[in-house]
Amino acid sequence: MTNAEMMTHERAAIVSIGDELILGQALDTNTHWLAQRLTERGIRVIEHATVDDDRARIDATLRRLAADVQCIVVTGGLGPTADDLTRQALADAMGQTLVEDPEGLAWLEAIERARGRTLTAQRRVQAQRPESASLIPNEHGTAPGIRGVVDDADVFCLPGPPREMRPMFEASVEPALRPPGGRVIRAELLRTFGLPESVVAERLGALMDRDANPTVGTTASGGVVTVRIRFEGAEAEAATAMEAACAQVRTLVGDVLFGEGETTVPAALVDALRTRGERVLVVESCTSGLIGAMIGSVPGASDVFLGGWLTYANAMKSAIVGVPPQWLDVPPGVPPVPGAVSAETAAAMAEGALRVAAERGIDAHHALSVTGVAGPGGGTDEKPVGTVFIARATRGEITDVRHFLIAGDRSDIRERSATTATGMLLHHLRGGTPDVMTWQMETT
Ligand code: ATP
Ligand code: MG
Repeated sequence: MTNAEMMTHERAAIVSIGDELILGQALDTNTHWLAQRLTERGIRVIEHATVDDDRARIDATLRRLAADVQCIVVTGGLGPTADDLTRQALADAMGQTLVEDPEGLAWLEAIERARGRTLTAQRRVQAQRPESASLIPNEHGTAPGIRGVVDDADVFCLPGPPREMRPMFEASVEPALRPPGGRVIRAELLRTFGLPESVVAERLGALMDRDANPTVGTTASGGVVTVRIRFEGAEAEAATAMEAACAQVRTLVGDVLFGEGETTVPAALVDALRTRGERVLVVESCTSGLIGAMIGSVPGASDVFLGGWLTYANAMKSAIVGVPPQWLDVPPGVPPVPGAVSAETAAAMAEGALRVAAERGIDAHHALSVTGVAGPGGGTDEKPVGTVFIARATRGEITDVRHFLIAGDRSDIRERSATTATGMLLHHLRGGTPDVMTWQMETT
């Protein structure tokens, strides 16, 4: 046995290769996926590296990481073209030359034959591997993976396309992993909506100490603040430690918690409505369809989403959902009226939607409306850009209207308004929209 074969994979690094990733033309989803898979197996991922299509830089990155980790997973750059340099760079890092693998060659030839073609010299390079490395079969494409050893680190090179990379990882890399015995990593995500990340962090307080175990951290995206709880240690202690930490988090931010894992606000909303057998309508002004699109993007939305109206112009707000026209268009010299962007108008839109639906025999339980100043123009001292009113009307209940001041540009304000509308109804269904969820919203 070589050193590498005896060593457990205590620490790992992930390397993604390609100019398109470096230049921002493609999103690196492979690393995201691989990091989760390695972590689940109890292997500690310590670095993600992204390298352009440069042989010397890939070589140097592999050598540098091999000094620090026992396992490196590389994706991309295994194709047949001149910019696919992973196999040469791996050979460089291993201090070897490339040789042609007879089985790999036969496999490539068989694929080409099945397609009625002969193997070109260019495609033939895909049968090459460093002398002591081995090829990894590809069930979903023509680029075999390569497994080699740099220093004492196992290096697994996988193709870039996710539909080839993922099955290859599962079939050939996972079984070869040697996670450290007895030590496990457990991770949970708890998702909150309605509080800025800074306030969530403040509430979590000492739970977020860096050297605690489990560690607790937060990440904010699209208004959702995710609380990450991560345990690393003896398997026997994992369940108890995780349960205790999750229970504490649930106590501290329970009022804004809406789900676990990768759940989104609209998905949780669709779920909550379905459980109660209730249906929702939307009436949108400044979001002009985004709320409907968000709810509609959830599979199974048809059980709970009726549809709605896009009342962008004042005339539509009056004609379709019955907002009094005298509230909207202000003739000169008339005393102040609520205006199109106001709590009154938001409430009238949502209540009007429920009324119109009832008149037409449509069974709606809730209506959500949004009216606001998305900018960049149109702001005033009294109602600056980002002023948004969101109303939730529910049959037989007093309408809940909230006033938000949302930071960011036009698209941030529109997106955040739409998520906030769905979040307001979601929180209501889960037992009450917290009072904290109003007025100021950061866009993080
Ligand atoms: P091919 O044989 O298709 O050339 P390859 O192993 O050479 O495969 P690349 O050329 O680096 O892989 O990438 C091929 C395609 O795979 C890219 O255009 C991209 O769509 C996808 N891809 C590559 N790397 C990643 C990544 N890190 N995350 C997501 N997709 C990726
Ligand atoms: Mg390629």
